[in-house]
Amino acid sequence: MDFQAVLNDITTEVTPLLGAGGQVASYIPALARVSPLQFGIALRTCDGQEASAGDSAKPFSIQSMSKVFSLTLAVRSLGDTLWERMGREPSGSPFNSLVQLETERGIPRNPFINAGAIAVADRLLTLGDAKSDILALLSSLCGETVAIDPEVAQSEADTGFRNAALANFMKGFGTLDNPVDKVLDVYFNQCAIRMSCVQLARAAGYLCRDGVHPYGGAQVISEAQVRRINALMLTCGTYDAAGEFAFRIGLPCKSGVGGGIVAVVPDTLSLCVWSPALDKTGNSQLGKMALELFATKTGLSIF
Ligand code: GLN
Repeated sequence: MDFQAVLNDITTEVTPLLGAGGQVASYIPALARVSPLQFGIALRTCDGQEASAGDSAKPFSIQSMSKVFSLTLAVRSLGDTLWERMGREPSGSPFNSLVQLETERGIPRNPFINAGAIAVADRLLTLGDAKSDILALLSSLCGETVAIDPEVAQSEADTGFRNAALANFMKGFGTLDNPVDKVLDVYFNQCAIRMSCVQLARAAGYLCRDGVHPYGGAQVISEAQVRRINALMLTCGTYDAAGEFAFRIGLPCKSGVGGGIVAVVPDTLSLCVWSPALDKTGNSQLGKMALELFATKTGLSIF
């Protein structure tokens, strides 16, 4: 298949819609300043072919897409014991919702809502230098050094009142072992990592290769663990829009409020799309549309 032509066509179709709907994330001031008039898309096949179009080389804030990689580190070190601290069911609620935590006694529904990712950050802190470990994993996976944007991290720390509430709530229930401020520091910094679509498409390569590193033969995590992460991306990766994403696109996806969405076609390719304007569920509006066009044009979907 001529993937470059497919990505060019998608870019041509969505570019006229830039600015026509959705809003950049405004609750993080540093993200509110990003121009919504940007769109990029990139993919990498399991055998190393690459294609990209639009603003695919421009770095942006990966935000909740980081949760896939922090989960990968936690699963690799802890195996099934991780699931003593969190569930594996879709939340059906916004990513920063507090209500479920109350009824479920401080155990987050899944590792991709904010509460779950904060609980994963706590586990990584117990295991080592969480921030460095996440950066090292991402740099290794995409073959380039990636970094945290300190302005975005500070902006999140200054305004992350709901995340602080979630973390304190979990601490009260005993879900977190480490001090709340240290756990939130990891979480805010992992969300503030900057990467481009090209880098993210490469980094997600192990998810379509049964856990094998995108640039080598080493196993990042086991085949069974990758299968589970892909299942969680499909059912929980886009929050309360996960059903809609499965319905329209049918691929494991993980979004972030920076406007990125990473998607996986198992055994075939990994791709990343980015456009900063978000819909009401916090997912990139044009990103979702582009992924639907991709599934339609290529017939690539797990269903
Ligand atoms: N840093 C963001 C937050 O905690 C991440 C949310 C997201 O990307 N969905 O609110």
